[in-house]
Amino acid sequence: MIVVETVKEVREIIREKKKSGLKIGFVPTMGCLHRGHVSLLDVASKLSDYVVVSIFVNPIQFGPNEDYEKYPRTFEQDKIMCEKHNVHMVFHPSVKEIYPEGFSTFVEVEGQIGKVLCGAKRKGHFRGVATIVTKLFNIVEPDIAIFGQKDAQQAFIIKKMVKDMNIPIEIVVSETIREKDGLAMSSRNNYLSKEERAVAPIIKQALDEAYSAFLNNEIKASSLKKIVEKKISSCPLFKIDYVEIVDTVTFFPVEEVVKPSLLAVAAYLGKTRLIDNVFLTK
Ligand code: AMP
Repeated sequence: MIVVETVKEVREIIREKKKSGLKIGFVPTMGCLHRGHVSLLDVASKLSDYVVVSIFVNPIQFGPNEDYEKYPRTFEQDKIMCEKHNVHMVFHPSVKEIYPEGFSTFVEVEGQIGKVLCGAKRKGHFRGVATIVTKLFNIVEPDIAIFGQKDAQQAFIIKKMVKDMNIPIEIVVSETIREKDGLAMSSRNNYLSKEERAVAPIIKQALDEAYSAFLNNEIKASSLKKIVEKKISSCPLFKIDYVEIVDTVTFFPVEEVVKPSLLAVAAYLGKTRLIDNVFLTK
């Protein structure tokens, strides 16, 4: 496994690998790798010959009052994990390498898809994500890129961007990996106090309750959302940011779940913002 810090070097190596006919798989991350990331690495290994992982905490996807500075950075551990999971190249650029002085071009996926859920709550977040992913795609030029269902809206946005801009990369979305008690794995789980960590699985329990109701023919979105809100609010440590059900094609909130929809939640547990989701389909 090699660690590369410059765009130039990534390009030189990838061009060689492509010349030898290798299929390039790519997993973009912000590091502090956990089993959720590892599952994406394993999918990449299965679907490609040469696996590239980027580890870059992207400043432009964080709002001014968000956690860019304190975001966990565990590069030495991350490298060991990558090596164990058959990664061939770790791309670990500096902020200056990615955003040199004078950088001023941004990518924005417009329309309803970016206006709901985290798009409504984290202004500029998806613009930052779309911009870095475009840059990384242009640097690595992978054949296939793997994203997690945990960030469902992000995955939809990337898929749309790739389609709209004719980017010749196959996007694969892989299932959410959870702790034993149901909590979706996240680098931000590191922020939780013992007390907060103990109640964190309530989010998944709330989604499960709503999903069961849906399977029992409750299709009213307001009722399903109420189930989630009630369960999460039963613990005073939580503050709900949003609970929403959107159509997975139009991304408009639905009144009745009669087409495939996404039930998505964001909630603060203390100062930590956690997200999770479930697809409502039968
Ligand atoms: P991040 O490092 O948080 O930017 O995430 C990098 C990639 O890992 C994204 O595609 C995420 O959706 C994915 N990811 C994060 N947590 C999980 C998880 N628990 N299960 C599956 N994928 C995940």
